[in-house]
Amino acid sequence: MRKLVAGNWKMNGLRVEGAALARDIAARAKAAPPVAEIVLCPPATLLVPVGEAIAGSGVALGAQDCHPEGKGAHTGDISAPMLKDAGCSYVIVGHSERRQDHNEGDAVVRAKAAAAVAAGLCAIVCVGETAAERDSGRTEAVVVRQLRGSLPPKLTAGQLVVAYEPVWAIGSGKTPTPHDVAAVHGRIRDALRELAAESAAVRILYGGSVKPANARALLSIADVDGALVGGASLVVADFWAIARGCG
Ligand code: PEP
Repeated sequence: MRKLVAGNWKMNGLRVEGAALARDIAARAKAAPPVAEIVLCPPATLLVPVGEAIAGSGVALGAQDCHPEGKGAHTGDISAPMLKDAGCSYVIVGHSERRQDHNEGDAVVRAKAAAAVAAGLCAIVCVGETAAERDSGRTEAVVVRQLRGSLPPKLTAGQLVVAYEPVWAIGSGKTPTPHDVAAVHGRIRDALRELAAESAAVRILYGGSVKPANARALLSIADVDGALVGGASLVVADFWAIARGCG
């Protein structure tokens, strides 16, 4: 399967710099098409200008969150059909920063993923353990519990991407050992056999302090089908080096 490298810009970027970053990625993708599929997930204010900047480059557009309902009285929220209308083909749901900052539990994440799929988007569903959960030996149990709670039933590979992001690895410069990444991704693949359709083809991304220096090693681990990249996605040369690390 084709690997996927998604850049999560989080709450970063004003119009001029965001469009410039997207244009630079698009130009590189056109000049030397990467082996991996690339998705840029800018903040909502930049979806349209980034979409315009990457048009025709093969780079896809994604959002960072959506509301579970299609429309209505939800001040400040953005629905999945709105994201589709803005040119998105992906949306991240259940990122640990949303789970923590907005108290989002598995049921809300599942509703968001279902809304995304109903709108024709592919949901990138994030799971991952905290440092305390890892230290007490509960990593795999936590991840499987989150998957069971967060995934709508029987999604296909075109509707679902899973991102394994240990909370303690995000933005910290720390990563699990290759052995640990392989174990968790293998466990996720097992769980997908009961939870998803086309389970072997659903891509499982690793996220958490992916950098050019560790990308190739992480991306060559079995069942690591790409990367969800935060901080390094804001630096063109780094993000590009990570995307090239898939080849
Ligand atoms: C993320 O938050 O999705 C992420 C992976 O961040 P970073 O790459 O900065 O650790």
